[in-house]
Amino acid sequence: MGKKYPAEPFRIKSVEYVEMNTREDREEVIIKAGYNTFLIDSKDVYIDLLTDSGTNAMSDNQWAGIMIGDEAYAGSRNWYHLEATVKELFGFKHVVPTHQGRGAENLLSRIAIKPGQYVPGNMYFTTTRYHQEANGGIFVDVVCDEAHDSTIDLPFKGNVDLKKLQKVIDEHGAENVAYVCVAVTVNLAGGQPVSMQNLRDVSALCKKHKIRMFMDATRCVENAYFIKEREPEFKDKTIREIVFEEFSYADGCTMSGKKDCLTNIGGFLCMNEEELFLAAKELVVVFEGMPSYGGMAGRDMEAMARGLRESIQFEYIEHRIKQVRYLGDRLIEAGVPIVLPVGGHAVFLDARRFCPHLTQDQFPAQSLAAHLYVESGVRSMERGVISAGRGKDGKDHYPKLETVRLTIPRRVYTYSHMDVVADAVIELYKKRDTIRGLKWVYEPKQLRFFTGRFELI
Ligand SMILES: *Cc1c(COP(=O)(O)O)cnc(C)c1O
Repeated sequence: MGKKYPAEPFRIKSVEYVEMNTREDREEVIIKAGYNTFLIDSKDVYIDLLTDSGTNAMSDNQWAGIMIGDEAYAGSRNWYHLEATVKELFGFKHVVPTHQGRGAENLLSRIAIKPGQYVPGNMYFTTTRYHQEANGGIFVDVVCDEAHDSTIDLPFKGNVDLKKLQKVIDEHGAENVAYVCVAVTVNLAGGQPVSMQNLRDVSALCKKHKIRMFMDATRCVENAYFIKEREPEFKDKTIREIVFEEFSYADGCTMSGKKDCLTNIGGFLCMNEEELFLAAKELVVVFEGMPSYGGMAGRDMEAMARGLRESIQFEYIEHRIKQVRYLGDRLIEAGVPIVLPVGGHAVFLDARRFCPHLTQDQFPAQSLAAHLYVESGVRSMERGVISAGRGKDGKDHYPKLETVRLTIPRRVYTYSHMDVVADAVIELYKKRDTIRGLKWVYEPKQLRFFTGRFELI
């Protein structure tokens, strides 16, 4: 692969100053935030790697699009532009706009899941699984075993294990499988990609059993870059061609516009089947808005249409992936345990190996994220037992991966910022035995990682 990191393929036209506070300030802030980085105010953060969701920088071309927002209640020009762009780049017959990705997940789960049906997926995602289960679906993880092991360095750790999928079909019957949900890339596995061959195989298996296949398209462009880099057949294909082929195997997709569409808000749901489209349109007016805006302003739809086109430019996506890899490589060189290989949107610290003195019920990842903030003003987030939540039986899910996610917003930070982050993590790693465990003070019933509060044990 070679260690080459391309310089930014853009120059900076507008800047936003960030404040730096002191360690004493941050010690107060983290207590006030209940040791939950989601509850820290933006003004108290120096480098914000909480998420890559909606934190992207837009281009001058997108901002220009904002000015031609057509804010008509129905039939906005910008909707038609967005719809045409999605159809052209993704190849689906129908598009339904939503306020963000989970809006699309809600609609899809309601129209495509009958209570008691199974929904196999390549690892869970928080909001995706919530909507599936809220509509009576039973999520089954069919990602390959390697995805759960942070030390195995393989090119496509997001792949569906076909044997596991076959087993779900054999055990429950194809009629009891609502659809198969394939995420490209797999966020919680570390932003790990799915190979085109795997998409082909899953699609063939689904077709054979007449089961629908939907994709979580959230990071489809990042996935396409990995396919180009790692699957020899695609070496000379454009990102655009690869994205189009990815979706050619699916019956539809949900999309969070806040990631690979390079915007700050928005989402959509796609499908080919007429009947599903009609059902989705009936529901979108209840939950999101007219089928020509779905919770988005006209200007947001324009920015999204333009962002989608920018995202499939090779120079953009190469820099994106390699900047994340740069941070990962610096940590690897220093011996910091991270999830291997480095994925598309984030570097994941392996909190079990970072904090071997803590047991999983002391929430090592939650605590590591809190300590990193106090140490450096860098905000990250937990992806471990807190995010995994509790099952129907009230027991905690104990995921194998207990990680802290350093998520890189698109086009926002420079390589110098990555150095600041790397130095902070390396410093903290040297004194890792000072990191103490946490216990609950307040545990919300749903998606508890967003608003839960903790204190030191
Ligand atoms: C962010 C995300 C979603 C949900 O999208 P929102 O726009 O945040 O509602 C779904 N799936 C994956 C993989 C995501 O990363």
